[in-house]
Amino acid sequence: AERVVIVGAGQAGFAAAAKLRQLGFKGSITMFGNEGIMPYQRPPLSKAYLLGKLEADRLSFRNEAFFADQNIKILNDEPVLKIDRVNRQVVTANDCLPYDNLILATGAEPIRLPARMSESVGNIFYLRNRADADRLGAIMKPGVRLLVVGGGYIGLEVAAAARQAGADVTLVEMSPRILSRVAAEPTADYFRTLHASEGVNIHEGVGLRDLKSEGAAIKAVLDNGSSLIIDGVVAGIGVRPNTELAEAAGLKVDGGIVVDEFGCTTDPLIWAAGDCASFIHNGEMVRIESVPHAIDQAEHVARNILGEAKPYHPRPWFWSDQYQTKLQIAGFNRGYDRAEIGASAHEGGLKVSYFKENALIAVDCINDARGFMMAKRELGV
Ligand code: FAD
Repeated sequence: AERVVIVGAGQAGFAAAAKLRQLGFKGSITMFGNEGIMPYQRPPLSKAYLLGKLEADRLSFRNEAFFADQNIKILNDEPVLKIDRVNRQVVTANDCLPYDNLILATGAEPIRLPARMSESVGNIFYLRNRADADRLGAIMKPGVRLLVVGGGYIGLEVAAAARQAGADVTLVEMSPRILSRVAAEPTADYFRTLHASEGVNIHEGVGLRDLKSEGAAIKAVLDNGSSLIIDGVVAGIGVRPNTELAEAAGLKVDGGIVVDEFGCTTDPLIWAAGDCASFIHNGEMVRIESVPHAIDQAEHVARNILGEAKPYHPRPWFWSDQYQTKLQIAGFNRGYDRAEIGASAHEGGLKVSYFKENALIAVDCINDARGFMMAKRELGV
């Protein structure tokens, strides 16, 4: 490979570029981004950065000098509009750039509230990029009334940050309980209690039915018939992988851009990694939305572009910070048939183990860094 082009200047795109150079790749690397800023980490956007406790430049993976030094060209305000597989080039508004290998690291986009809601009121927030966090952070002030829609990790982290900023927070989760998609009951119970003690009003099994303007405020109508007056709505209701380019180019897409164990799409010159990629794991087609996975998969792609033929076996782990509580997750609990509370190695901590057909597949550790290290070792992740 002489010319590698990367679409998406996020976690996976950056990891692939840096790894290629680390492995001695001498060809050209061009990375296209569409956020207008140097590649940066997202996790603090719902944590320290949202609380104003981390400077914007501390989010960046590396400064501009690093990219110049490594001869990695970043066009960070130039979205790729099309992949032209016949001529092996990507197309932007200004240019066409040929590739020998192309890496798709386009990430994911928040799922939006239905248009009938978003069109009638302002002050609706999502949280995916730095601009989103800046906009949301600006209204998180004492006494501001916020409705968080969605009780997944993003929704809960936003609720925690907003409470810490002094906002009045109500959170609604449509499914019977918070974290229903990603964690077992004991973990959800822990966080429900934590948020309640911090003063968040959590309503589970209750969806948002409608939003209406009410003077300068918003009236939110819930599907249990009750309503509340708020100043802003944050929706953390999941993401959709950015697969449009791949689809338009005729690559196989199934809940994400389909890649094989080497990270290769259905075109042998085109690869994908991170939040946008779907692949088979434990017999199921999955996408994994986490930093360690994005890095690992992207680094495998870099190796494989250089001819190593190294299969990728995810070794997932994840974390979430809420108030002073730290949750760390080793493994991937998708498809678990049993969850058990175990003895935590730390007092005041909680350990929840997930099993599939009696095999341990994941462990949640709350305020238990030692338990997490042990679980990682046990799971080999
Ligand atoms: P991204 O980092 O999203 O990068 C994709 C980039 O591609 C974006 O900049 C996008 O704008 C750009 N792009 C898309 N299409 C085009 C195009 N056509 N042309 C040019 N550029 C394009 N993970 C954890 O492990 N722990 C956490 O605590 C955690 N917290 C999180 C908190 C928040 C608020 C968010 C949003 C995510 C969090 N995650 C966390 C998830 C983690 O950030 C993602 O899994 C990771 O960023 C995925 O990397 P990626 O490169 O696949 O996608």
